[in-house]
Amino acid sequence: MRVSFEFFPPKTPDQHAQLARSAKRLAAHRPEFVSVTFGAGGSTLSYTPETVRRLKQEHGLEAAPHLSCMGGSRAEIAQLLNEYRQQGCRRIVALRGDMPSGMARAGDFRYASDLVAFIRAEHGDHFHVEVACYPETHPQADDALADLRHFKAKVDAGADGAITQYFYNADAYFRFVDEARALGVEVPIIPGIMPIANFSQLRRFSEQCGAEIPRWLAKRLQAHGDDRDAARELASDAVAALCRRLLDGGAPELHFYTLNLSRPTEAVLTRL
Ligand code: FAD
Repeated sequence: MRVSFEFFPPKTPDQHAQLARSAKRLAAHRPEFVSVTFGAGGSTLSYTPETVRRLKQEHGLEAAPHLSCMGGSRAEIAQLLNEYRQQGCRRIVALRGDMPSGMARAGDFRYASDLVAFIRAEHGDHFHVEVACYPETHPQADDALADLRHFKAKVDAGADGAITQYFYNADAYFRFVDEARALGVEVPIIPGIMPIANFSQLRRFSEQCGAEIPRWLAKRLQAHGDDRDAARELASDAVAALCRRLLDGGAPELHFYTLNLSRPTEAVLTRL
């Protein structure tokens, strides 16, 4: 089973210690790569490269920086790409990103497809470029088919693969993959998996990013409350069952959104 893990760049000493612990434990699962998020509007501009460097040097992991272009200038992005290349990075997750509310800064790139085209123009095939895609449709998309066409535009611009937004409905993924293939998209589409550590937080986050938590699962988790062992067991069983269905249905790999915690991801992996 091929797996990869997403981390976010730590800022405080406690967060650094937590990431070090989680990276050490999860490295034992021999991930294909790990990725490091990029704060909305460039808010982790220096933390992301530093975290990528540490994950490589201290844990021997192939670390792929996320790079979002919204609000960034061509020169800033060119500089970051050069920095990553000098660090020895071979993989990038290329995104549009979101502007934090209250912050409005015109950038030189409008969509992730523009960023992918820029990476290819500047660096040829040096980087393996992953992009994001949305089996349950991006919340700002006009409609599901327009969103699918915009995903195809990123692949046509040169993306090598895609990682999905998380979802809990395997059929949404299978249908999305079928529709993408029918449009001629041939790159691997890796499902993004969000283990459930904190249900209230997950519910808030899912409302923003447009991921649906099935009613039966939400109701049962609510009934157990946030921190109870029973809720954790139920959540891990449900996410592991989703992963099993995805793998049985041909998913090429599983990409776990770890939120820098190892236990919720490990609870799913041990069930697989
Ligand atoms: P795009 O592909 O540019 O799409 C954005 C919207 O524009 C979609 O609705 C799309 O349908 C529409 N669109 C695209 N092209 C066109 C066009 N030509 N005309 C009209 N509409 C168009 N956010 C962060 O801030 N940091 C991260 O590190 C980060 N990592 C992520 C990793 C993954 C795997 C995923 C799935 C998401 C991640 N996000 C991250 C969130 C992401 O930045 C947001 O979902 C953002 O709103 C969209 O980014 P995108 O790259 O998918 O944008």
